[in-house]
Amino acid sequence: MSSAESDLYQEVVLEHKRAPRNFGHLPHPTHQAQGTNPSCGDRVAVELLLDGQRVQDIRFSGQGCAICMASSSMMTEAVKGRDIAAAQALQRHFRAVLTGEEDPDEAPLGKLVSLAGVRQYPSRIKCALLGWHALMHAIAGQQDAGGTEESLS
Ligand code: ZN
Repeated sequence: MSSAESDLYQEVVLEHKRAPRNFGHLPHPTHQAQGTNPSCGDRVAVELLLDGQRVQDIRFSGQGCAICMASSSMMTEAVKGRDIAAAQALQRHFRAVLTGEEDPDEAPLGKLVSLAGVRQYPSRIKCALLGWHALMHAIAGQQDAGGTEESLS
């Protein structure tokens, strides 16, 4: 990682950790799921208000490390108001970048690219993916996303 990339990564992560977006609960969520990352102690719950195929509103709650919280916060910004298909595509690209299957310079990640530096730290990849993991389970209608183990194997 270049020092510039490192600085950006730090700044964005710390800013979202300090002021997470869409943090809390929805009054009437249509879909929800939670996930845990035992290796770090992260716990994240995602609540959705789906309007047909569109993510009308989203909230997340829980506790975790800075990367987990920042990634979940950025996720809510990235998918709010978008179609489920777009959210699923973004999750696939984000995961592929973090696991080294896709080049971050070529993946359509938008602002999420500032988290691409996490791929340098294999033990933190689960932290960055936990919120997304819970989101995918919420969309699929599965309440308990469980651990993140199976998604990375
Ligand atoms: Zn973590």
